[in-house]
Formats: sequence, structure tokens, C-alpha cells
Amino acid sequence: MKIRKFNWKTIVITLSITTLSTIAWAWGSWGHHYINHAAILSLPDPLRTFFYNHADFITEESVVPDIRKYTIGDKAEFPRHYIDLEDYGADAVHTLPKSFNEAEEKFGAEELTKKGTLPWTINEMEAKLTDAFRKKSKNEIIFLAATLGHYIGDANMPLHTSSNHNGQLTDQKGIHALFEGEMLEMFGKTINLNMGSAPCFKDVNQTTWDMIEATHAAADTLLKAEADLRKIFPKRNIYRLDSADRVVKNQYGDWYFSDDYVKTLHQNLDGLLERRFRAAIYYTSGFWYTAWVNAGKPDLSDLDDEATTKCNQKILKKELKLWKKGKTFNLKPVPEFKLINSDHAHD
Ligand SMILES: [Zn+2]
Repeated sequence: MKIRKFNWKTIVITLSITTLSTIAWAWGSWGHHYINHAAILSLPDPLRTFFYNHADFITEESVVPDIRKYTIGDKAEFPRHYIDLEDYGADAVHTLPKSFNEAEEKFGAEELTKKGTLPWTINEMEAKLTDAFRKKSKNEIIFLAATLGHYIGDANMPLHTSSNHNGQLTDQKGIHALFEGEMLEMFGKTINLNMGSAPCFKDVNQTTWDMIEATHAAADTLLKAEADLRKIFPKRNIYRLDSADRVVKNQYGDWYFSDDYVKTLHQNLDGLLERRFRAAIYYTSGFWYTAWVNAGKPDLSDLDDEATTKCNQKILKKELKLWKKGKTFNLKPVPEFKLINSDHAHD
């Protein structure tokens, strides 16, 4: 491997041609695991009892939609994770058709695939989950709940609603993984995950678009804060460098920003990371709960055996003590930014 001494111009050029793979992992696997898990704890009983019996599955399967994209290579999966609102025209969040069929009629399948279908995907999954509750189909419920939680997580990550999703239009490449991966892994543990009891939404479709609107508003704030910081931060200190002055990369090929840079940006964002992350938990639990209510609040207690439920309730009791303080048990998703392998440093 060639060792190249640190050179700011080289970094800029190289960054601009580097494909950043963590777009695969909106909120990173750390984030998706905690969003789904915290959303389970937010559910009112008796729905929480049922979900808690399947907490491991729903927590771990939170990243399955991303696995479908990148490990299986399912091309149809990609547009479900984002919506490039700016590409749909001015004020798109208010003018886009609320139903997928109308959108398809207006834009055609090809254009929708390019610009993203996230809000419509959420509504489709919500309808499917409601139906699964109605049928009391256990496997479908837990699979759809885990999947829906993923898309709602994505829908609260500001850069998943913007065509400038990796800062590529404004010379801010790397901001996607910086925000949802490196910063979240650094500060996630400080976020109070307790959003109170899950809400029931009167109009799911409208709620979806309201959520997208709030998330999109945060995209500009995030991009601007990072652009402002880049202007004043000593250039040599923006990235993490190894002893040979090479920028360190994680196992997915994403560049590490320096701890100081991440901390300062987090501070300048003034709680934006926490707000979007907590919103993801709030909406995930709310969409699950609303699906169950709209299905007529079916009794799910006979879907699991009594002994399993009893045992899990004991564990839940312990976790609820932590929950009161805004914490959960320690989950163990594979971190994306803590495993440093200097062999991956840029050559
Ligand atoms: Zn995703």
C-alpha cells in the first residue's frame, strides 16, 4: 500500500470520488436497533407485552431492509429508503400526491425509483401491518413492525429527505455517515430514549407527510451548520489521521472525522441529533400502536405461550426501571465507527 502524506487538496479530490457506503445504514445499525427497541418500550399494554415477547427479533431485524439492498442486491429496495424532495419540485412536501397510485400516475415508475418513495412506502407498510394485526398473523406482525420501524427511522434522518443526501452538491461529502454514524455512536448513549406512551394518530397519511416535513426542515439546518464549521475549523484537524498522516477509514470505507470536529458540530447543532432520534422513536411506536388500534385492538395474548410471556414480563420489569431514566438494556449492534483498522486508511 502506498503511504501518502496528508494533503488537504488530495483529501478533497479523493472524497469527491469516494462512494460512501454507509448510506446503506441510515442511522447506522446502532441507531436502528435502539429506535426499534425503545419504541417497543413506549407501547401501552397489552400491545407492549406481545411486542416484548419478540423484542430480540424486532430489534435485530430493524436493519433487514438495508441488508436487502446491499447484501442481497435487491434493486427494488433502494427507493423505499429516501425521498429527494427538492427533485420533486418546489414545496413538494405539500404538493406531492398523498397516495402512491396517484404519484405513479403523475411521475411514472422510473422517476419514482430515482427520486425515492419513502413516505408512500411507510403508508403501504402501515396498511400491511394493520392487516396483519387483523389476521392475528404473528410472523407477519413482527416482520412488518421491524421493517416499518426501519423506514420510519430513515424518515427522521434529515438527509434521507434531501437530494443533497451526502452533501455532494455543496462540497460536504461524508456528512451523511458523520451525522448518522460517527456522531450518533459518540453521543447516542446520552440521548433520553423515553418519549412517553405511544400516540395514536388520527390520520396516518397526514402524519407521515408532517413527519417528512419536519425532517426535511432539519436537513438545511444540518447542512448549514456543517458548512459553517468547515469554514472556520483548522483544515488539518477536520479528519482523524493516523501516524502516517493518512485519513482513517472505517470498515465500510467511510472517512473518520476527528473527535473534536464531531463534538463541535454536535454542540453547534444544539440538540438536532437528539430531536430527530427521539422523533424516530415517537413515530415508530405511534405507527405500530395506531395499526393495532385501527385493526380493532385484537387480543394477541394467545399467540405466545403463557410461560414465555411470564418469563419475559420479569425481564421487562427490570428494563422498565432503566426506561424511567430514558435508558434501555445495552444492545450490541456492530458499531460502524469504533472498529479502526489502519489497513483501511486511504492509500
Ligand atoms: Zn434504510
